[in-house]
Amino acid sequence: MKDLRRDRAVFVGAASSDLVKAIVLFGSPGSGKGTQAKMLTQCLRVPHISTGDMLRDRIRSGSEAGTAMVATMQSGALVPDLVVNEMVKERLRERDAARGFILDGYPRTLDQAGRLSEWLAGRGIHEVVIHLAVDYNVIIARLTGRRLCPRCGTLYNVSSHPPRVEGVCDRDGEKLVIRDDDSEAVIRGRLDAYDRQTRPVLEYFRISGHRVLEVDASDGSPETVNRKVCQMMETA
Ligand code: ADP
Repeated sequence: MKDLRRDRAVFVGAASSDLVKAIVLFGSPGSGKGTQAKMLTQCLRVPHISTGDMLRDRIRSGSEAGTAMVATMQSGALVPDLVVNEMVKERLRERDAARGFILDGYPRTLDQAGRLSEWLAGRGIHEVVIHLAVDYNVIIARLTGRRLCPRCGTLYNVSSHPPRVEGVCDRDGEKLVIRDDDSEAVIRGRLDAYDRQTRPVLEYFRISGHRVLEVDASDGSPETVNRKVCQMMETA
């Protein structure tokens, strides 16, 4: 994988001359956002900030257990903007995000996009928006076959990226699980929420003059898609 750390053309300096690598990854559920974010985080050495993971962590740690958030996420609907905006704002203030970050799953609504734009503009940071475009039927097939290691977070797919031993994580031997919101009915709900609430956010970025890099992520291995993403970033 090509080292993008020297790719100065892509990232614009913050208040100082330091580079801030701010990437916003867009794509419907099942577009491979999480996988691409993990690959990018390794080559750019900036944290992967996934609002879905952060919300699930909150539930697991007990701070939100039994609250309306659990039901909202299980139904595939979106958690209120107020909660997510506050959570992301706090996270972006952490030390490890000072040199950049990869946002995965945020912003998902126009309200969130407005908050993020304000926050970034106030710091002179120009984000790179990447849209992973994937065909609807491919998404359904991917999501229903998705398996997750609950310990290390590695994602598998029963058809396109199976573990070496069925049902078991290659890395740590943990038993793989299906996420609660990966059932077909919930998947359709999540795709619907994406269409209604998140697609307009992409439009917002486009019409407000942000450069949106369109990447065809319908076929090819995660490595192939990653190469496409890196190539587009080099020429952005
Ligand atoms: P996916 O992108 O595959 O739907 P995520 O892990 O990003 O999965 O999100 C899982 C769930 O977490 C969403 O369906 C939603 O309920 C909640 N969520 C994640 N990010 C946000 C966000 N930015 N705003 C509101 N809800 C969110």
